[in-house]
Amino acid sequence: MIEINKDRLVKTFLELVTIPSPSWNEHEVIAYIERSVAEYGAQCERFPCGESFNLLVKLKGNRKGETGLFSCHTDTVTPCENVRPIVTEMKIMSDGTTILGGDDKAAVAVFIEVIRNLKEKNLAYADLEFLFSCAEELGLYGIKGFPLKKLNAKYAFVFDSGGDIGAIVLKAPFHLTYRVVVKGKSAHAGIEPEKGVSAIRVISEMIHAIPHGRIDRETTVNVGIVHGGLATNIVAEHAEMALEARSLSKTKLNKIDKKIVSQLKTIASRNGASVKIKKNMEYEGFALSKENRVVQIAASAIASIGVMPKFEVSGGGSDTNIINRAGIEAVNLSIGMRNVHTKKEFIKIQDLIRGAKIVHAIIERL
Ligand SMILES: [Zn+2]
Repeated sequence: MIEINKDRLVKTFLELVTIPSPSWNEHEVIAYIERSVAEYGAQCERFPCGESFNLLVKLKGNRKGETGLFSCHTDTVTPCENVRPIVTEMKIMSDGTTILGGDDKAAVAVFIEVIRNLKEKNLAYADLEFLFSCAEELGLYGIKGFPLKKLNAKYAFVFDSGGDIGAIVLKAPFHLTYRVVVKGKSAHAGIEPEKGVSAIRVISEMIHAIPHGRIDRETTVNVGIVHGGLATNIVAEHAEMALEARSLSKTKLNKIDKKIVSQLKTIASRNGASVKIKKNMEYEGFALSKENRVVQIAASAIASIGVMPKFEVSGGGSDTNIINRAGIEAVNLSIGMRNVHTKKEFIKIQDLIRGAKIVHAIIERL
């Protein structure tokens, strides 16, 4: 099995997490990646996306085989300014005032280390593509804005899952969002309230009526934002909310969607209010099985470093959803990050090393 340069990998990771990269502001991290792989014969290409870039790094293979895609994202959630990582014998964590940013810089660091190893150790590999997407955390904007047709890969390995190393995400949900605007009728609340229709009352009736929380093993609904009204002495004319429905099953999602829309409309009309509903399919789901080749490659690579592969179903989306929809078989694999999106985020140093070993083992199998 390949030896990983622990000190160099940790150094790369620490340098990466101290570069702030909130969504759409990934430029410095992108430049860091380009600098880090420049001398290793990698071909870097930036693809503008919004105010930022997706970065594609290609390595021409020195043997025949299938092209593999390795993917992660360069942005992080906030607070990500002034990250002061604390390194102990076992792990790396933030100082408790910021996130760490291992989501997804652990994967960025691992990919850089792998690219260096391939050249330095004269390893054999088929053509490789590494995609570093931007603005993932806000809603997969980078990958959605990337021309996936440009890729040659048939199989993609996204490293953007947390928890124990060895986890393979086989399924992720369809994700539908709604903006709902209710218009009632304003009136003086003290003098003639009977002339008004309170949009706030109507929207609260809607919130109570629609399905909520966990609907079944595969399906969830959540109202995340509500606001409305202007003052206590006005019957509110306007109220709005944002909600989402997710399901691993398209059929179930369609069913719950019909229910939500019909209830919103019925309640609005029953109260003499009007409702506008704007829906958006944020991303489509995917479902792989242990028979899919991409899963078999990942599982065999994980097992080869002495870790038991663990198959998981996710309630969240990732770049993997979009890549799968483009016809490239893609799995999402754990890179070992823990407590992500919190100030208690950490990663075990051993997991960074194991992540790099898994990437090398996948490359051997392509
Ligand atoms: Zn992530």
